[in-house]
Amino acid sequence: MALRKDSDSRRLLRRLRDTLAAPGGSQDRLDQITHHIADSMATEVCSIYLFRDADTLELSATEGLKAAAVHKTRLRLGEGLVGRVARTGRHVNTANAPAEPGFRFMPETGEEVYSSFLGVPIQRVGDKLGVLVVQSREARQFTEDDVYGLEVVAMVLAEMAELGAFLGNLDERMPQAHRFPSMFRGTGAQEGAAEGRVWLHEPRVVVANPVGDDPVREKKRLLEGVETLRSRVNKLLADADMSDEGDHAQVLEAYRMFAHSRSWLKRMEEDIDLGLSAEAAVEKEQSQARARLEMAADPYLRDRLHDLDDLSNRLLRILTGQGSDTGAEMPENPILVARNIGPAELLDYGRKLKGVVLEEGSVGSHAAIVARALAIPLVIHAGRITSEALNGDAILVDGDVGVVHLRPEDSVAAAFRDKIAMQAEAQKRYAGLRDLPATTLCGTKIELHMNAGLMADLPSMESSGAEGVGLFRTELQFLTRTRVPRRSELAALYTRVMDAANGRPVVFRTLDIGSDKVLPYMKPQDEPNPAMGWRAIRVGLDKRGVLRMQLQALIRAAVGRPLHVMFPFVAEPGEFEAAQKMLMEEIAREQRLGRGLPLDIRVGTMLETPSLAFAPLSFFRACDFVSIGGNDLKQFFFAADRENELVRRRYDTLSEPFLSLLDQIIARCAEADVPLSFCGEDAGRPVEALTFAALGIRRLSMRPASIGPVKHLIRQISLEELRDVVDNARATAQPVRRAVTEFLAQL
Ligand code: PEP
Ligand code: MG
Repeated sequence: MALRKDSDSRRLLRRLRDTLAAPGGSQDRLDQITHHIADSMATEVCSIYLFRDADTLELSATEGLKAAAVHKTRLRLGEGLVGRVARTGRHVNTANAPAEPGFRFMPETGEEVYSSFLGVPIQRVGDKLGVLVVQSREARQFTEDDVYGLEVVAMVLAEMAELGAFLGNLDERMPQAHRFPSMFRGTGAQEGAAEGRVWLHEPRVVVANPVGDDPVREKKRLLEGVETLRSRVNKLLADADMSDEGDHAQVLEAYRMFAHSRSWLKRMEEDIDLGLSAEAAVEKEQSQARARLEMAADPYLRDRLHDLDDLSNRLLRILTGQGSDTGAEMPENPILVARNIGPAELLDYGRKLKGVVLEEGSVGSHAAIVARALAIPLVIHAGRITSEALNGDAILVDGDVGVVHLRPEDSVAAAFRDKIAMQAEAQKRYAGLRDLPATTLCGTKIELHMNAGLMADLPSMESSGAEGVGLFRTELQFLTRTRVPRRSELAALYTRVMDAANGRPVVFRTLDIGSDKVLPYMKPQDEPNPAMGWRAIRVGLDKRGVLRMQLQALIRAAVGRPLHVMFPFVAEPGEFEAAQKMLMEEIAREQRLGRGLPLDIRVGTMLETPSLAFAPLSFFRACDFVSIGGNDLKQFFFAADRENELVRRRYDTLSEPFLSLLDQIIARCAEADVPLSFCGEDAGRPVEALTFAALGIRRLSMRPASIGPVKHLIRQISLEELRDVVDNARATAQPVRRAVTEFLAQL
């Protein structure tokens, strides 16, 4: 059998490379390639099937099958043996192809006389390009070495395709990777629409030469690259400063083990022996791991394959010298495209970005929180966009519906621009209301505050006309760092926040960590139900050091001015009392030390658990203010995880049970004469906001971008009329949402 010897393989790869370098059209090249491969493998047939579109493979060149079938024979993904190879990303090797399940006979090719079949995918890290097949009359099983050798050849073809060797004069008959428009349906994690150009967070590495002439030299390069990788990984893990117990440490240890894996290195060395360059060898193993990753259901295996993928990327960057900083210039209106991104990295890009598209992520992820703070549209779960997109590609991001158009058609782009223009028009209208109060026609004033969590949020206070910060989520400062911030750093930050608010009130909510917000430097708790687990005030009261430090920082920042502190996730009065007592102790301590004190201190609670709505009146009387955290309150009231796409939109905030719960809270607060606000996401949704106002809530805190639209409506309605509409709908068991929407539509 040919290709048995490494030297045969290397000779074939060199012939392929020469074919690539020689002048000539793409079809000529493909024809020559199939000829060389059939010759080297001593098979009668060699064929190349390439993707015409995402679902269709086309016979694009052949040695041995009927020439008339070229560009005629097509198969769908998963159809026949060729389709199976393409779908699974794994080879099919059979001595008796017609007897193989799923075999599909294609008479126009004349292949009925061939018995044995070996097909391997042509793929390049997540990019499926086609299938390479050899066939022979003799009913024989191809050896492991044959399979391996053909995979190496397919790798070189994939690299050649990437370099454009098969494009050109085949034009529209050939698949043109990275050229067609494509659409990705993901999940909108921050509203807004943006048009711009792709900026890849981790740009694709270009392997200029897949074929290695000197295996000794290539192996040396590989070894040096792996050495560098190992020392970087060791450093990375040392810097992570983890406690060396727990799952997290185990995961990192597995990562380190991979970097030191002998078998990984050995496979890559074998690839080099067969003629690949060091970087092509890394890519070959990475491509196969990616294909396995896509098929793997076992979460542990998936994680390990992810590790390998990540390490391969790092190794490729080392070998090619192409880092994140490739010297490419950031395009105008950059839209960041990434598998995933950490909050600190996203903050580094800052407001330069017009939008963000991620393959992974979750609605409550730290990146999503930052994107929200920066008010840039964000779409998550956007398929395999990092494989498809190239730096500089035109891209449209619609965070309202979670759709991304890559290289859009003109008509799509035009419609999209209309949408952006309409939004800009509306924004202009809202800007005109900025300095006007949110007062209804009947004279009721609703206070509109904004939610914030970063210094970067504060400029929005001016532009939105917010009357203050109704919720400052302090955990973001902790989430965007690699270690616990120092008291002095926090005090300095809180001072700057209060300075920026320029006399308007800022309600600082103490650390709400745990649940979905796990600090990178905290030992993760393996909790079955983190949202209902050890989080927020529960952590603060159990591990008092951090809460105490935060309270001290707040007191110091507020010397000589008012301080508003709010405790998160209080489920029973005792927790509030304990936290309040801690704050008082810290104030007494400052006093003892002879330091200055805040002028006025208000201590409030978040109301995020149904239990608290039924707390005794004495509790409400003990609070200086109460703020309804609807995001959590709703998830516990309806038992529907706010992070779970399957259920998170299932129950209506404006349904009778939830409105009754709000009635209960409003009545308690009125009786105790304690100010009440609503600061969950619903406060920024116009229909919800107006209904809350009709029920009697007089202060709403929301994203800055929602203040304009909400104020615009408040100023046009009579709250008395709206109250009648709501009461009437409730009395007659009609949907309140519909009644309010219809009422607003009449305006
Ligand atoms: C809420 O639960 O509604 C809230 C405002 O808090 P967070 O979204 O930070 O949990
Ligand atoms: Mg909450």
